Amino acid sequence: MNTPAHDWRARSTDLKLDGRAVIAGQRVAAVTGETFNCVSPIDGRTIGHIARGGEADINAAVASSRRAFDDGRWAHQAPASRKRTLVRFAEKILAARDELALLETLDMGKPIKYSLSVDVPSAARCIAWYAEAVDKIYDEIAPTAHTALALITREPMGVIGAVVPWNYPMIMAAWKLGPALAAGNSVVLKPSEKSPLTALRLAELALEAGLPEGVFNVVPGFGHEAGEALALHMDVDAIGFTGSTRVGRKMLEYAGRSNLKRVYNELGGKSAFVVFPDFDDIERAAKTVAGSMFFNQGESCNAPSRVFVHESVADEFVKIVAGEAPGYQPGDPLNAATEMGALVDDTQLRTVLGYIEAGRAEGAHIAVGGQQVRAETGGYFVEPTVFEGVNNGMRIAREEIFGPVMSVIRFKTEEEAIALANDSSYGLQASVWSSNINRAHRVARALRAGTVHVNQYDEDDITVPFGGFKQSGNGRDKSLHAFDKYTELKTTWIRLE
Ligand code: NAD
Repeated sequence: MNTPAHDWRARSTDLKLDGRAVIAGQRVAAVTGETFNCVSPIDGRTIGHIARGGEADINAAVASSRRAFDDGRWAHQAPASRKRTLVRFAEKILAARDELALLETLDMGKPIKYSLSVDVPSAARCIAWYAEAVDKIYDEIAPTAHTALALITREPMGVIGAVVPWNYPMIMAAWKLGPALAAGNSVVLKPSEKSPLTALRLAELALEAGLPEGVFNVVPGFGHEAGEALALHMDVDAIGFTGSTRVGRKMLEYAGRSNLKRVYNELGGKSAFVVFPDFDDIERAAKTVAGSMFFNQGESCNAPSRVFVHESVADEFVKIVAGEAPGYQPGDPLNAATEMGALVDDTQLRTVLGYIEAGRAEGAHIAVGGQQVRAETGGYFVEPTVFEGVNNGMRIAREEIFGPVMSVIRFKTEEEAIALANDSSYGLQASVWSSNINRAHRVARALRAGTVHVNQYDEDDITVPFGGFKQSGNGRDKSLHAFDKYTELKTTWIRLE
């Protein structure tokens, strides 16, 4: 990818942005005719106008998805046929790589380099992987007495509401769409109001690939309007939600107040990264935590934002992490060399700066960073920031900041490290760094998190589940386990004469 920044900028002025919803195969304005501004965090400019979907638009989308499900235009196709359509959908995503990457970068500020190399290919791979899986999964026959046959089968649920965040807009959408569509459901997707552009294009690409009308509808809009209407809808069978723990709580309430729809929550994190002095390559551990923390501007649910380091190696560790910071200085997201881009909006900028202020006020001190930069561009940029002298009770250690801010906490013993790492309301991911195989296994087992990494933090694949313990959520995205969320288990007893 060698296109210079000015070329990406020129391409962005040529883009035709269509902010209308996609319902029943058509581009449609909101029923009220209202729109909201799509503001690019790169420079604070308004780049488009998005349909402000509300209850009426959600009703239309759900009705269309219900019709599509009930008449079997998708659900009754043979799995091999659904597979072919979804493989074509994945191919179309890859063919539109430059356009989708540019939309993602303009919309939420991540570097174009990563939109191209991570977001687009990961979304395509996810759709293709579930497509390929769907005609290879068999149902079960239970080992019952010879007088009866008990079939245990999986059926699509019906209409799935997907509500997703802005940090990886395409990937988060694909994690819901892949298993839900492959299993034969219809989906109504509500993208974040901060990043609706790629979701709308995905719906068009799916139609071009041959997905029947109504099987995948997209209604952009605000959470308390379109999101709430979708989650309260009596004809939605399940909600696949990714977002904050605050809104995840509301999702459970909406289900209780409506039709007890299944709710699968994939929520926030405050992941622990635990470094023991017996790990034989402290430099690799320090460089890994910097890369994982500052990737995507620190706007990753699994960012290792609580770093527990044994007191005997903490000084050296912090020095190496601080030395890495210049490599992550924010730059123009449209420049192919940029490693860290803009925070998603002005609100997120204020939130992150507020936490940096809170850390200082509570007595932690900044080893590197701590400033807003590039304000003259009109965009929202914050330096990679490392706090030391943090204790686990401070707000910067307890609350999810969702920005490039790391807290380093010292420990003395293994028991203390485990207790501190587990002392969090979250449990999304964790990692342990030790060259002692017994300690590595012991600590990995003791850490309360959905994923535990040993001596690395980067491995990830569509084949493995992703999700959290505690208030990080309940469902699991990715892997074959995700089919559990979007299928009902049915038992059929047959009497044998
Ligand atoms: P958010 O909870 O504010 O919003 C997420 C989605 O919910 C958006 O589409 C939003 O419009 C919608 N929403 C907001 N209020 C709503 C309401 N009252 N009713 C219905 N819908 C509503 O989260 P965010 O700021 O977009 O995303 C950041 C959060 O997402 C972080 O906490 C991050 O950790 C989490 N996240 C988790 C994972 C994971 O897999 N566990 C992955 C990515 C992000």
